[in-house]
Amino acid sequence: MSNEELEQLRASLDNKNMEILKLINERAEIVQKIGGVKSKSGTKRFDPVRERKMLDLIAEENEGPFKTSTLQHLFKQIFKASLELMGEDEQKALLVSRKKHPDNTIVSVKNEQIGDGNQRLIAGPCSVESEEQVFTVAEALKNRGVNLLRGGAYKPRSSPYDFQGLGVEGLKILKKAGERFDMSVISEIVTPGDVETALDYLDVIQIGARNMQNFELLKEVGSTNKPVLLKRGLSATISEFMQAAEYVMSRGNTNLMLCERGIRTYETATRNTLDISAIPILKQETHLPVLADVTHSTGRRDLLLPAAKAALAIGADAVMAEVHPDPAVALSDSAQQMDISQFNEFIDTLRDEQLLKDGAG
Ligand code: PEP
Ligand code: MN
Repeated sequence: MSNEELEQLRASLDNKNMEILKLINERAEIVQKIGGVKSKSGTKRFDPVRERKMLDLIAEENEGPFKTSTLQHLFKQIFKASLELMGEDEQKALLVSRKKHPDNTIVSVKNEQIGDGNQRLIAGPCSVESEEQVFTVAEALKNRGVNLLRGGAYKPRSSPYDFQGLGVEGLKILKKAGERFDMSVISEIVTPGDVETALDYLDVIQIGARNMQNFELLKEVGSTNKPVLLKRGLSATISEFMQAAEYVMSRGNTNLMLCERGIRTYETATRNTLDISAIPILKQETHLPVLADVTHSTGRRDLLLPAAKAALAIGADAVMAEVHPDPAVALSDSAQQMDISQFNEFIDTLRDEQLLKDGAG
């Protein structure tokens, strides 16, 4: 083929491209008009019966050389882009997504504004074991300016033979500690029936990893206006995590925080794998405060500090870590909780290295 011939063919290809371009935009204008008519009549934009008819017509009229399946695939892309043009994409955007709400959501927990740009620590024992245990930790935290106290009263343990938590007695101890030391208290609730009781005792209801897809529980906490700390499921994708958050928000509760707590991978050196990139992804994709639980993600005391540094550096709004007066005898998670002097060292280092502001609890 001579050069001249090639140039001619290319020129006619360019012309065809321009014709397709013009046609595709003319088609888009018709689509927009249809969108306008549909929105006036309240008709759903996606019409599968109509789309099937259009695909069938393409099949009937196709004379090649393209295969019908190839053309149908290309037209499906055009149909999809057209739906987006009609605003369908925007309609589908989740309430938790930044597309719906570009500004950061700030969750008020008593005097703390989580998500306001000041990074914080949430700390406390894995399980509430006794008043003395919780008070000892609470006092130590308060002394270092930490105002957010966690502690498990209902423990979703892997084994039914392990300590299951003190239940409502645990909530009472937490509330008392919160009042005594002027702290906010956070604890996990595992059944929808306990949500109402929890409203009286807690400042934040935690939904644990094992319950991230307990949809009835999500709906129940979503129907309150109590701040909710939702943890990422053990094997949940970021998208599933966001859908779970949507369950809460779709019921009207906007006081929602997300917590990356490590996911199941093939790696056995840590208890879970801290998905550090989930933190900026969730910050980008959603408008909600994003937290990092360094205790359950690593499962290793020696990794709490480096993991907390990484989480703060990458933009977590808060770091959660477990602290127990005597971890060796803790009724749960004894391998990974810090004792009080270790916690003091932990917070001092984060402050010395300016990863945590002075006074940021
Ligand atoms: C907890 O924070 O007490 C807990 C059980 O964590 P997770 O749900 O992330 O395992
Ligand atoms: Mn724990």
